[in-house]
Amino acid sequence: MKIEELVKTDPTGLIARAYQVAQHAHKGQKRKTGEAYFTHPMAVANTLAVWQLDEPTIAAGLLHDTVEDTSVTLEDIKKNFGAEVAFLVNGVTKLDKLPDRTDAPDKPSKFILSKHGPQMQLENFRKLVLALSEDLRVIFIKLADRLDNMKTLSVFSPVKQKRIARETEEIYAPLAYRLGMQNVSSELQDLAFPILHPQESRWVQSIVKEKYEERLEYLQSVKPEVEKALHEHGITPRAIDFRAKRHSSLYFKLLRHGVDINQIYDLVAMRVIVNTVEECYATLGIIHQYWPPLPGRIKDYIAMPKPNGYRSLHTTVIGPERRTIELQIRTLEMHQENEHGIAAHWLYKQSGRMPTGKTGMRLNDEMKWIQQLRNWHEHTASAENSEQLLQAMKAEFFKDRIFVFTPKGEVIDLPAGSTPIDFAYAIHTDVGNMCVGAKVNDQFVSLDHVLYSGDLIEILMQKNKKPSPDWLAFVKTTNARDHIRLALKHKRNALGGRSTLTKAELKIVVHDRVGIIKDVSTIISRSHLNILNFQADASQGGKYPIVKIEINTTEKDKIEKLILKLKKIKAIKEIGYKLIP
Ligand code: MN
Repeated sequence: MKIEELVKTDPTGLIARAYQVAQHAHKGQKRKTGEAYFTHPMAVANTLAVWQLDEPTIAAGLLHDTVEDTSVTLEDIKKNFGAEVAFLVNGVTKLDKLPDRTDAPDKPSKFILSKHGPQMQLENFRKLVLALSEDLRVIFIKLADRLDNMKTLSVFSPVKQKRIARETEEIYAPLAYRLGMQNVSSELQDLAFPILHPQESRWVQSIVKEKYEERLEYLQSVKPEVEKALHEHGITPRAIDFRAKRHSSLYFKLLRHGVDINQIYDLVAMRVIVNTVEECYATLGIIHQYWPPLPGRIKDYIAMPKPNGYRSLHTTVIGPERRTIELQIRTLEMHQENEHGIAAHWLYKQSGRMPTGKTGMRLNDEMKWIQQLRNWHEHTASAENSEQLLQAMKAEFFKDRIFVFTPKGEVIDLPAGSTPIDFAYAIHTDVGNMCVGAKVNDQFVSLDHVLYSGDLIEILMQKNKKPSPDWLAFVKTTNARDHIRLALKHKRNALGGRSTLTKAELKIVVHDRVGIIKDVSTIISRSHLNILNFQADASQGGKYPIVKIEINTTEKDKIEKLILKLKKIKAIKEIGYKLIP
């Protein structure tokens, strides 16, 4: 329901009162676009209503800019709307209290002279994490706010547009994705795309336009045939619609496929919405009876949802006239969850009803993820650790994830590149600390073995075992790294405070050439490190000689920076390191 209707339906309710107060407070203010400022909180509140969020959230959406930009105080809000709404508004205000806000009314800014740059982005990010861990509804309001601001971005200077678009692409879109709000995520990405990549965007537009309309026409002609086939088997779909691929994701897909648009099957997909999970699978079977599927294109995201919770069946079939059709089959419930993600669950929590089945599992997983963020935030409260947190967040949450299984069939969500050690710590700290070996798909593997989605992992443990410092060199998750460090610290303390590790050993595989050793040692000394020991061995039978160099540091960051520099030397084929006593 639209806000105006909600106001009419319940004229003395929370939303109606918030509407009146916000409208009055913003009276006379204009947006950069020239419209009345109140259109902005209205757009935000309408989005929150579409996401089916609760009344306090919608009310807070209407009021979200009043404390910052009008004479309304937080006390006023608390008095008139209660502590919950005040808390939400304050949360958004704190997030927004940043120099050069995207959507401030058109008036001289208090922050005109403030500086921007990485430090500010970092600060934004820290606040975001904090808000995320306190109350997700603050983040929902912020995402709705950002969505509306992105739509009206063109009024700002190109520099400002770019900065806001970059923040949207790097932080808000991935965040929405991780919250399962796929639709919001791609919409944000699509709004940022032409600003950050104007040439690429024009290029995609030019090649897509004709193709797109032709595809749509074709699919529309096929739709009655699909309906008929389903009817014959007693299935009446709730809806069949069409979904155009977003330009931004299409661009990256085109790059992957060597710019051949004919290989992009899902330029426009047909979406079939049915009543039950059983009907999803039945529909898939019926469609395959009529039109043969393309091998390797059937994806069951119902049995195995995407890490962000997305559920659907996908297939690509060879349809009439031997043309390909990409289909997405799902229930209405899945569809809503796919569109609104974790926001779709908020109602469950509000009403005190615990969701059941798949939904319940998803909710728990998501809560675990948020819990983890909160822990990080607490562990890295100091400023010098902020950078580390940002890097860890980016590496761990904003990149690809893998799904692996415990022997009991539980799904563990890890970043790509994770090892059995990361898996073990994801299960339990003790499992990680006592890990002595691992089996992946029934095969013994080394502990630095890289895991892939679908792997079944069994951890072998030994009591009273302590983690090895070597693990720090290959673990991927912050969780594992933190726990290994902690366990090692205890071990050191037990040994009377002496560190057991004093140096690092680099193992370099080189293609021998004159001067290579000098080049390596120059880079090491320029990095303000000393060589403690040096050993070259050409007689190991390998194709290239191996050089082992001991250096006087145990700091991972320093070593990794050094390795990056060394890798620039052409003759170096491989390089690794471990910490040694
Ligand atoms: Mn706003």
